[in-house]
Amino acid sequence: MADNKVWDVAIIGGGPAGLTAALYASRAMLKTAVIELGVSGGQIATTELVENFPGFPEGIMGPDLSAKMEEQARKFGAEFIMAQVESIDADKPVKVLHTTDGDIEALTVIVATGASHKHLGVPGEKEYAGRGVSYCATCDGAFFRDQDLVVVGGGDSALEEGLFLTKYARTVTVIHRRDSLRAQKILQDRAFKNPKMKFVWDTVVDEIAGDGKFVSHVVTRNLKTGEKGQVPCQGVFVYVGMQPGTAFLPEKIERNAEGYLVTNEKLETAVPGIFGAGDCRVQVTRQAVTAAGDGCIAAIMAEKYMVGMEVGAPEIADAPGGWRG
Ligand code: NAP
Repeated sequence: MADNKVWDVAIIGGGPAGLTAALYASRAMLKTAVIELGVSGGQIATTELVENFPGFPEGIMGPDLSAKMEEQARKFGAEFIMAQVESIDADKPVKVLHTTDGDIEALTVIVATGASHKHLGVPGEKEYAGRGVSYCATCDGAFFRDQDLVVVGGGDSALEEGLFLTKYARTVTVIHRRDSLRAQKILQDRAFKNPKMKFVWDTVVDEIAGDGKFVSHVVTRNLKTGEKGQVPCQGVFVYVGMQPGTAFLPEKIERNAEGYLVTNEKLETAVPGIFGAGDCRVQVTRQAVTAAGDGCIAAIMAEKYMVGMEVGAPEIADAPGGWRG
């Protein structure tokens, strides 16, 4: 990445929030970089069919939607840098992002790092990761043809991914710690109607067990009766919530107890010029379309912030690479 230009907007993360921010920023003629370690798309890249993104009445395959979003951002000049941001120096008007591919300087930063699936934290989970334990049905589902699977959790992810797994599996048993699901009603209806899906209520998984090579069952505990049990299975898909990708940020960028970025309605964080967008920030709903909305707001606010800076902060013009690099 031997390029010493100063970007107008550095967007960290290439999910729906980051890609939409990239579209708006690049279309506003801002020099825009998206920094993403892997394939663009974030969680939708590993979602088979996205049914609730407006404009696609038949639904659209997750990877297709993210590829189209990336194409649209590239069309207006957004550039993509494959790297992981490890830390940010945010003390000066020009922010310095220390990445696995060298330093990147930017006048504004949009943190759109999303969130990743939490782990259960029970014995056997680490030991059998990749040998029965998975966090991605789209990636691993096809390995479990005609097998018995367990899904842990009762939210949208658990049901959506559980339903997807019924394409391959013989049975999918959802183990949920309460007696009612958190997931959207439409997903609940589909799951209850699907003959391959079973439910174990008021129950947690205490251990994932196997023969040393592969998973053979989970050890369960009923939270109401205390009764222990076992559910035989060859695969365990864990969907017990998400954790935001915010650990690398400077301490002065405020986060809540779970690590989600605290922003105001302009999506500003506690540090001027650094914005938060999408699933990594505190908000009431986490959907691809709301993440995209966030990306739009963050890019427009980043542009407004820079207009203010142009007037108020002449030191920017003297930054390495100059105001417009
Ligand atoms: P979530 O909504 O936080 O649900 C997590 C589930 O795991 C809950 O049912 C929770 O139980 C359970 N859980 C949490 N910790 C547990 C533990 N230690 N042991 C056992 N169970 C545990 O997470 P999510 O389903 O991954 O969804 C994340 C966000 O993405 C949500 O906002 C969701 O709406 C959104 N999403 C949307 C779609 C879609 O629109 N198609 C698809 C996927 C995700 P309790 O219910 O008892 O708390």
